[in-house]
Amino acid sequence: MKILVINSGSSSIKFQLLDMADEAVLASGLVERIGEPQGLIKCTLRPGTDKELVVKKTESIADHTGGMRLAVEILLDKDQGVIADKSDVGAIGHRVVHGGEDFHQPTVITAEVLTAIEKNIPLAPLHNPANMDGIRVARELFVGVVQVAVFDTAFHQTIPPHAYHYALPYELYEQERIRRYGFHGTSHKFVAGECARVMGRPLAELNLITIHLGNGCSMTAVENGKSVDTSLGFTPLEGLVMGTRSGDVDPAIHAFLARNCNMDIEAIDRLLNKDSGLKGLCGLNDMRDIHAAIAAGNERAKLALQVQTYRNKKYIGAFMAVLGRVDGIVFTAGIGENDGVVRAMSLQGLEPFGITLDHEANGRRSTQPALLSTAESRVQVWVIPTNEELAIARETKAVLSR
Ligand code: AMP
Repeated sequence: MKILVINSGSSSIKFQLLDMADEAVLASGLVERIGEPQGLIKCTLRPGTDKELVVKKTESIADHTGGMRLAVEILLDKDQGVIADKSDVGAIGHRVVHGGEDFHQPTVITAEVLTAIEKNIPLAPLHNPANMDGIRVARELFVGVVQVAVFDTAFHQTIPPHAYHYALPYELYEQERIRRYGFHGTSHKFVAGECARVMGRPLAELNLITIHLGNGCSMTAVENGKSVDTSLGFTPLEGLVMGTRSGDVDPAIHAFLARNCNMDIEAIDRLLNKDSGLKGLCGLNDMRDIHAAIAAGNERAKLALQVQTYRNKKYIGAFMAVLGRVDGIVFTAGIGENDGVVRAMSLQGLEPFGITLDHEANGRRSTQPALLSTAESRVQVWVIPTNEELAIARETKAVLSR
């Protein structure tokens, strides 16, 4: 069966078509600058094979419908395309950022499900409307094809109340649903599953700490295969130090900025989400640039690296306490998969807790899951590449066979 995965943002649509017989990627593309005078679509057909072909088009793309139509034209092209007919697509999996408390697992999209996603718009005002646009367009273009919503928040719905409640007036939870939801759930679940596979053990018996370090960063405590705590909270701002997001700060800083720095709530929100994190500390938000700056003697860049890795270590300690026994620590995403220095600094000094990194293995580059700890290390440390599209395709397939 072929599954189309759609990740629809406010001005872009990422898509991938997979053949689930062997999980081969048949096409992978991105429609950008929707609604701007000059839109762009780039699609790689049959990537990684000797028949790989990159198709690029620049033209005005008025809306998501126009963008998806262009994508479908490329997939269906009678000379170069990868499907002969729309009916070749067996199902469509959509990334949906916020499922609130309504969705604990991927779900076939019906009118009621769309209403529930819409109800959660206040919790993700930028993301859920864009995700819904993608769903609407796909339903128009692929009439009768089963569509599945895969939620970023769903994996974390197993977090118990003592971990998801904030110590705020209870009415704020009852009336506004203010609580920890957690995000990056599709990635955490995927790498946890992959970790169980490479360890050769059932996921349901494993306690893991999964660490997603990309532009956004989060850490999850996985107990017997289920998320029991995670660092991102009500919004994707809490927890670890990210590219431009602050992660944890004293909440009283908000009031201080308002009273003393003449900032309104929009400016504070922007400061914490767009101008903080690594960028706030040193002006750079890409870890590769930070390493280059450190090599050139930039002290602020060094501080940014230290602040991020110290925060990682602090959360690892917290989640070890949450779990008691930890079988594995998994690093994933752009920084987690590629940056041995960040991994080593995040785990530095944790030997008394049974975590011993094999520095040679940690220094090697790998696009495959790799064990980074020594044979003696009580806790195994792994690097496991995440693959959100494949994860969504697998989840979609699993929903169909439920
Ligand atoms: P992601 O959000 O998973 O795509 O990760 C993007 C981030 O990963 C970038 O902003 C970089 O900070 C980081 N990154 C990507 N490649 C590397 C690399 N080779 N070494 C260190 N960091 C990297």
